[in-house]
Amino acid sequence: MLYSGYTMMHEHVRIDLSGVKNDPDCRLDCQKETIEEFKALKALGVGNILEVTNIGMGRDVEYIRTVAEESGINILCSTGFYKEPFLPDFVYTSSVEALSDLMVGEIEEGIENTGIKASVIGEVGTSRNEMTAMEEKCFKACSLAAKRTGKVITTHTTLGTLGLEQADYLIAEGLDPEKIIIGHMDLSNSVKVILSVLSRGVNIGFDTIGKLNYAPDSFRVDALKEIFSRGYSSQVVLSMDITRKSHLKVNGGLGYSYLFTSFVPSLRENGFSEGDIRKLLIDNPVRILGGTL
Ligand SMILES: [Zn+2]
Repeated sequence: MLYSGYTMMHEHVRIDLSGVKNDPDCRLDCQKETIEEFKALKALGVGNILEVTNIGMGRDVEYIRTVAEESGINILCSTGFYKEPFLPDFVYTSSVEALSDLMVGEIEEGIENTGIKASVIGEVGTSRNEMTAMEEKCFKACSLAAKRTGKVITTHTTLGTLGLEQADYLIAEGLDPEKIIIGHMDLSNSVKVILSVLSRGVNIGFDTIGKLNYAPDSFRVDALKEIFSRGYSSQVVLSMDITRKSHLKVNGGLGYSYLFTSFVPSLRENGFSEGDIRKLLIDNPVRILGGTL
């Protein structure tokens, strides 16, 4: 179930990609500081966070449960596999069916004997301009698990590439476009690419808000204007995708609250109504996740 309030649709509470990336900053494990940030989010009206860290990304659902309990925010956990080179070794030797069984188990029985069940499948990803054979295997297994459970599938595109291919793949596998979220489309830096993905009927994530080194927020605002004018406003969700220690406020980063204290005000300044903002942060998440939790 969802709490009332805003929902951030693509976040990480704890994540560890530091081994592969060889950068200790990529181990986000600052529980106390995260709880403080989440209390601030709660005060800003956030009710829910979709936590998309999965198997092989340093997922720790007990850690997440503590953050949820201490902050009062409802945090939904995920199952699934990310992308190369972050896939666990057993993905290379397991069958599609076995990988799907594992995910269905985490959804129906719980994750690692914690009793905490996965609410969504994601973030399942592709490399830059390429879906490798192993990534395709994961997409196939995730599609199968989504079909078996009716859960939403949420993806990672690398710098917004292959969004259209991901959407077409999942739709061809028989998934309902309304239960698909193609992630990081704001990093594509192309309104044309974004509109082509939306034309397939899937949802997209403008979920790297504040990652200004990849795309300025002015691009995100202008692209949202175009999306609204084309009638696709029901298909977009928002988030920050905080993944590093240095993204936290205490370490000099923007912090999770930036979405509400900076980006939403800039939407207002650019003519978006309260109803538009409500749509992006409340109505769309409720409709997409509704009936699947
Ligand atoms: Zn991602």
